[in-house]
Amino acid sequence: MNTTESQLIDGFGRKIDYIRLSVTDRCDFRCVYCMAEEMQFLPRAKILSLEELTTLSEAFVELGVKRIRLTGGEPLVRQGMVGLIEHIAALPGLDEVTLTTNGSQLHRLAQPLADAGLKRLNISLDSLKAERFAALTRRDKLADVLNGIDHAVAAGFERIKLNAVIMKGRNDDEVLDLLHYAQDRGIDISYIEEMPLGTISEHDRKEVYCSSDEVREIIQQQQDLLPSAEVTGGPSRYFRTPGRNTRVGFISPHSHNFCSSCNRLRITAEGQLLLCLGRENAVDLRGLMRRYPGEKERLKQAIRDAVQHKPEQHLFAQDDAPQVLRFMNMTGG
Ligand code: SAM
Ligand code: SF4
Repeated sequence: MNTTESQLIDGFGRKIDYIRLSVTDRCDFRCVYCMAEEMQFLPRAKILSLEELTTLSEAFVELGVKRIRLTGGEPLVRQGMVGLIEHIAALPGLDEVTLTTNGSQLHRLAQPLADAGLKRLNISLDSLKAERFAALTRRDKLADVLNGIDHAVAAGFERIKLNAVIMKGRNDDEVLDLLHYAQDRGIDISYIEEMPLGTISEHDRKEVYCSSDEVREIIQQQQDLLPSAEVTGGPSRYFRTPGRNTRVGFISPHSHNFCSSCNRLRITAEGQLLLCLGRENAVDLRGLMRRYPGEKERLKQAIRDAVQHKPEQHLFAQDDAPQVLRFMNMTGG
């Protein structure tokens, strides 16, 4: 295989070396910005099997993908994740496999995941107040999540990062508390602007919109933020706070368009290859794998062809109704 064959370059010259693979649409939480209270989940037969997830991962790594992030839904409510991660972590050519989780299962899975070769872990945490956490996730599970984070810190991952979606009037008064919580544990934190994915009725997204610049100002009233050139393969812009190990990231799909450097593809739990989070362009890889089982070359060619159609940029606009009706748990955040 020559180098060009083993690289995915899209029609705009962007090298694709990062995939986010959703392993389930199911979740034990119902975060207000992500899901409706009542959700209809996919029948199991429509979800990629563990074998299909393995085949897909192998195909992407053979095409030059260096990082795979497993997400969902809640990946750790699916059986077999430790084994899948162990297999993916051992693929030659892959730099790392990472996972995004709500933390609810980490009290039992943090150590097995670390032992399986998982290096980095993202844990979502929007509030340190039990009642508020219950309102935001619609589940009264803060104690479990904090316990899970303690287990993760003890398990010896290379890096752990908290992800906090910040919303005005909901949790913007906890920006500093969350930062202190991360700093006390020597872990990273990224603040995320809410994205207009899926029609939700719980709140008006425009009213709660809190820009990354506003979050930065809150932090800078108390601590210096030193710009850092570090990148982790994702869209975060990073800063450091003096004297602390914690990196502070901002994921700002609204206020800072990062499409021009987009290096990623997403695969939904149903095996749809999404070329852009904010658009509907998709290719049915599950259908292909089921029609032609074992034909990895055909799969790889379909991926190469699809990448040529990756759009130049997404279409999010704060004032508009969501153009994307999929819920975040379907796409894999
Ligand atoms: N269940 C796992 C979790 O919550 O970490 C993984 C999947 S979740 C969809 C991945 C990330 O997407 C979480 O950090 C979550 O906060 C974020 N997320 C979900 N819906 C979002 C939205 N509408 N805007 C911004 N971030 C969102
Ligand atoms: Fe579940 Fe994660 Fe969505 Fe919350 S953000 S409902 S934990 S998938």
